[in-house]
Amino acid sequence: MTEDFNGKVVLVTGAGSGIGREAARAFSSRGAYVYAADVNENGLAETEDLIVRAGGKAAIARVDVASEEDVSTLLARIERDAGRLDAAFNNAGITGGTYRIEDYPTDDFDRVLRVNLRSVFLGMKYQLPLMKRSGGGAICNTASVAALTGPGGMSAYAASKHGVHGLTRVAAMENAAHGIRVNALAPGWIETPMVVANSAQNPAFAELARTAIPAKRGAQPAEVAAAAVWLCSSAASYVIGQMLVVDGGMTIGGFELQ
Ligand code: NAD
Repeated sequence: MTEDFNGKVVLVTGAGSGIGREAARAFSSRGAYVYAADVNENGLAETEDLIVRAGGKAAIARVDVASEEDVSTLLARIERDAGRLDAAFNNAGITGGTYRIEDYPTDDFDRVLRVNLRSVFLGMKYQLPLMKRSGGGAICNTASVAALTGPGGMSAYAASKHGVHGLTRVAAMENAAHGIRVNALAPGWIETPMVVANSAQNPAFAELARTAIPAKRGAQPAEVAAAAVWLCSSAASYVIGQMLVVDGGMTIGGFELQ
């Protein structure tokens, strides 16, 4: 494994589980000092343990990514303790409930938008100045295939993820000339603990979903994390303002030849 993140400081949100945990482990295995942020303190402790046992270095932070106070305090801490920020993976997110628009509870809609979209705005608002002072950097924001599609029942989620795509493009446009690349990641069906639990409750739906994916399987979180790490690495030095879809072909469209 290359150590191309040696000496670099990387922030990962939603690092207490799933894709964020695997990204934190992957950045660390490539030499980064990782700030792992999440609301879930038990999850964070497990992530830290995995990193330290593998010989990596990490600091954990209990942060609500929708809170401006939490986010600004975290970035001030990173500046004070590490003095720089080279990459940020703004990845924390929630799905919200599944209701038709006319039945969608307005408070739930607002909550999904706060956790998934306001969080990415706040993250970048405080990360970009520190990255500029660090001489440049890279940001990856987690969107979803729901940034490209219209999954019935998931209006808040789809709206938030379409918003992440738009914010990413604006941030990329504003910061490319400052040596900061901003991109988004659009995962498809990822076998995180939440998805595995949902599949166990509704195996027929899970089977249908898998059959509809050209790869005929969901992804492991590490397969998605690898794409986020690549987007933040120097290997992606000319990739700016893009949304990288990692979905086993789910959004190709068209039909398979029978
Ligand atoms: P996950 O539930 O395993 O991890 C999400 C993490 O975010 C959790 O640890 C949770 O505690 C944290 N989090 C939630 N709200 C937070 C808040 N307010 N502040 C800080 N942390 C908070 O799920 P995951 O699948 O790893 O999701 C990561 C990202 O990937 C999310 O943005 C999600 O929307 C996106 N995504 C997931 C899938 C999938 O199939 N799993 C598909 C497309 C997109």
